[in-house]
Amino acid sequence: MTERPGGLLAKVRRGLFMTHTEILEKLGDAVKKGLGFDESVLESLEEVLLEADVGAATAGALTEGVRRRRASSSRNDLAALKSALVEEIEAVISRAPRPAPVPDVPLEVIFLVGVNGSGKTTTTAKLAAREVSAGNSVLLAAADTFRAGAIEQLEVWAGRIGVPVVRHQEGADPSAVLFDALAAAKARGVRKLFVDTAGRLHTKKNLMEELAKLRRIAAREVPGAPHQVLLVLDATTGMNGLTQARRFVEAAGATGVVLTKLDGSARGGIVLAIYRELSLPVLYVGVGEAVDDLVPFDPANYARALLEEDPEDAARRDAAL
Ligand code: GDP
Repeated sequence: MTERPGGLLAKVRRGLFMTHTEILEKLGDAVKKGLGFDESVLESLEEVLLEADVGAATAGALTEGVRRRRASSSRNDLAALKSALVEEIEAVISRAPRPAPVPDVPLEVIFLVGVNGSGKTTTTAKLAAREVSAGNSVLLAAADTFRAGAIEQLEVWAGRIGVPVVRHQEGADPSAVLFDALAAAKARGVRKLFVDTAGRLHTKKNLMEELAKLRRIAAREVPGAPHQVLLVLDATTGMNGLTQARRFVEAAGATGVVLTKLDGSARGGIVLAIYRELSLPVLYVGVGEAVDDLVPFDPANYARALLEEDPEDAARRDAAL
């Protein structure tokens, strides 16, 4: 991806790694206190991981892993600590399922699920725009019939990116919208159908039942559908968001995560909690409200970059010297 003015990649870095300079500084200070990389450093490590919002369980597990690695190593400097931590982070990431390859099917059906306000409608538009750029025909289904304004919001996006939408009236049955959208997608030979689902109905229980019903309808009409169920998670909600997200994994069968609002958030550590506690891959990160503010997530780079010094920080520091 090419860097455009405003620096999309810079925004991702800031969101994901805003904490990394701090992590390095705190660990560096702890190691420098002359004690090497000892138990007090491990305590500092757990603290900075908590501050980066990896969550208590994941912070504890990572620290324990680093402790075990230290026991079997003769080195106890900052570099050894960093490489032990990177290895532990890579292990967490490698235990989650890999993203499913794009299926070779005439029509791929992709559901977007998550609580209201997480960014489902916006992410639907962003993903649709990527597919349009890749030359694929796209249809949107406005199956969030409960949130006021959701249908119109999706229509505005669709108009901007030039894709059709199947919609009913506000309050209509989402199953009926999906049914019509599936029929339209098949009739028109569309390659990608994105389904924007509701984040809240009258009670939460009904929402999960509704999502299960939407899955059954999709599977009945298109073999293998829904091919992807993307859980849209707002990074700024931190660990609370993760607790809510669990319900979507169990009931809606989420296959991957789109982590939104990483711009203006220092909560990049949540990526690790998603891998470890939800066992789901993070596929994209959202870094703004514009249609191209969506970036594919690369977990291998993440683990290393989390503890690397940002070249921009280094340049600024050198310039100040
Ligand atoms: P929905 O209720 O899940 O459909 O959420 P929306 O798509 O309506 O998004 C809720 C708000 O979050 C809107 O104001 C969006 O513009 C905003 N939003 C969505 N994704 C991002 C993102 O990656 N960064 C920022 N800053 N805002 C976002």
